[in-house]
Amino acid sequence: MPKTATRLSHFTESVIRGMTRIANRHGAINLAQGFPDFDPPETLVAALERAARGPHHQYAVTWGAPRFREALARKITRFSGMPVNPDGDLVVTCGGTEAMMVAMMTACNPGDRVVVFSPFYENYAADAILSGAEPIYVPLRPPDFGFDVAELERAFALKPKAIVVCNPSNPAGKVFTRSELLTIGALAERHDAFVITDEVYEHIVYPPHEHVYFGALPGMFERTITCNSLSKTYSITGWRLGYVHAAPSVIAQARKVHDFLTIGAAAPIQEAAVTALDYPDEYYAEFLEGYRSKRDLFLDHLRATGLPFTTPQGAYYVLVDISSLGFAKDTEAAEWMAREVGVAGVPGSSFFREPVDHLIRFHFAKREETLNAAGERLRRLRDVRRG
Ligand code: GLN
Repeated sequence: MPKTATRLSHFTESVIRGMTRIANRHGAINLAQGFPDFDPPETLVAALERAARGPHHQYAVTWGAPRFREALARKITRFSGMPVNPDGDLVVTCGGTEAMMVAMMTACNPGDRVVVFSPFYENYAADAILSGAEPIYVPLRPPDFGFDVAELERAFALKPKAIVVCNPSNPAGKVFTRSELLTIGALAERHDAFVITDEVYEHIVYPPHEHVYFGALPGMFERTITCNSLSKTYSITGWRLGYVHAAPSVIAQARKVHDFLTIGAAAPIQEAAVTALDYPDEYYAEFLEGYRSKRDLFLDHLRATGLPFTTPQGAYYVLVDISSLGFAKDTEAAEWMAREVGVAGVPGSSFFREPVDHLIRFHFAKREETLNAAGERLRRLRDVRRG
């Protein structure tokens, strides 16, 4: 039998998506794969119904339906202050996932290196490897997940083609400060590297922290490839709608990657999503307030377990320290928790380059009653001390 490509042996299937299957098997509350169990705004669902009755059933323009790109450009400018040319600066993709893959394939030649902060969202390493590049890692250190500038300098000394910055970060919940981003930018400039950002949680940043758009930093637009998505901001992870925003010369190349990967994002979905992009500022304020209260509720539940955990500054993930439960492997702990406690999380080891076996990631993008039910189950952990 012929052998499949060797590059595929350098990474595993997604542990996050695997935990969703385990959660379903055990009927566990799924706090593993980060997606909401509540519906998007009613007006957005109505717009989808209208779009289904409209003339949007064939391919949209490969790099995005014009109406959608125009609305997107307005929305990006409204929040980041960056002027956006909808015709030259954007590629609409099938989710943030495709956006990241497009960015990586646009930036990297086979054999290039890409700096990835650890812990990291598991797609980045796979994206780099599928592009023929090699990820190199720089640790973010708890409790605030800051990086050591000397360590980052050493990574840049290896002449990487790009660095990936997930801000706010999944799974650490870290929001990078302007000064940290300027440090990254200065190094990227000195070594002429791209900065590929994943900003899908831009609207889930808990005060006093603030989101800084990397591409809006002085002199950074030309080297920034911003990846983003509508999934989290409008609670539509199943719509698979994302985008890449970058300088026109980069976008001209990115369009080619996107075109041959997927041709385009779904036409009726783009049409409907224009409604969301035009939501007023109050939508975003309420959206954030919703997540702030979910965060506070879920952290209260975690406090009741007696286990230590991180407090997210942004996004909707918490890393819980399960050392005291006495498992040798976090994968074993995560399975046990789904099966015996009835709550699924993701083993922390799938996010870290360093050997880490004492963390489980939970997310709290769930309705209050789901979080309360999960909290009730998790309370059992108070009395568990294995090993
Ligand atoms: N970004 C979400 C997470 O980290 C969802 C991942 C996915 O399956 N696309 O859980």
